Amino acid sequence: MTGASYNGYGWADRTAITTAYRRGDAGPGFTFAGKPCGLCGDPERPAGEWHSEDYSRPHSFVAPQSYPICKACHLRLHKRFNRPAAEWELFCRHVDAGGYGREFAVFYPLPQRDALCRRIADGQPVELSRPRDRPPDPAWWRSLTLDPESLEAPWARPRPLRPRPDAEAYRHAIAAAAPTEIERRILCFHAAAPRRTVTMRDVAREILEKSDPRAANLAYGRLARRIGERLNFEPDRRDDGSFFWMSVIAEGWQPPNSSRQRREYELVLIPVLAELFASCCAN
Ligand SMILES: [Zn+2]
Repeated sequence: MTGASYNGYGWADRTAITTAYRRGDAGPGFTFAGKPCGLCGDPERPAGEWHSEDYSRPHSFVAPQSYPICKACHLRLHKRFNRPAAEWELFCRHVDAGGYGREFAVFYPLPQRDALCRRIADGQPVELSRPRDRPPDPAWWRSLTLDPESLEAPWARPRPLRPRPDAEAYRHAIAAAAPTEIERRILCFHAAAPRRTVTMRDVAREILEKSDPRAANLAYGRLARRIGERLNFEPDRRDDGSFFWMSVIAEGWQPPNSSRQRREYELVLIPVLAELFASCCAN
């Protein structure tokens, strides 16, 4: 896993939480040692093995951000992007049936596993061993995406990388910034976009009825600045040291181009703003 991104966090963000844990940032007396696997429930797991879904600051060492985990579950969880979707589904059903992660390969040797995966992929029922009753915990791993883009994309982060102000602070700042009708529609459009993600070209075309993304850059950037100036939050800086005002509203990233598609810079709306503007889009 060395060097790999996960849930929109780079390797540096991922190692920072490990350092923080070793430093004792989880609080006096807190340890992952002695706790059962937060996925399969196996009580016999290596004391130092744990997994985070969320590496944003402030670091959290408890669910739903971080979990004690066994080696087998940890491996499967990270391998889910490189294996057929049916294999992750089979593993989850094995856990649903009360199986421990380490029992998966024992119960289902490769040829049998492949046959079961084929049945799952075909939508056929499969019969699995039920070694023990499963406690009715919320199965957080069931909602994990299999989209490899989630490894890098900010939309996969449960929280923005850097903490943003709370909903109340945003509400006040937006009220003071007095968005125009068009600006309000831009925010609503962004909040309603799949994965809270738009390009400036999307905004220009859908809201400003223009083909040039620079029109959206100007309009949205101006709004972001007016809101940002009314918040106690320092925006990200560009390489030249100037403020990137859009970071008040969104986290940006450049998705990789594929052979079929050239992709533009994407902006992922901060979750708290998506919630604030979700209701107005419904009207
Ligand atoms: Zn486990």
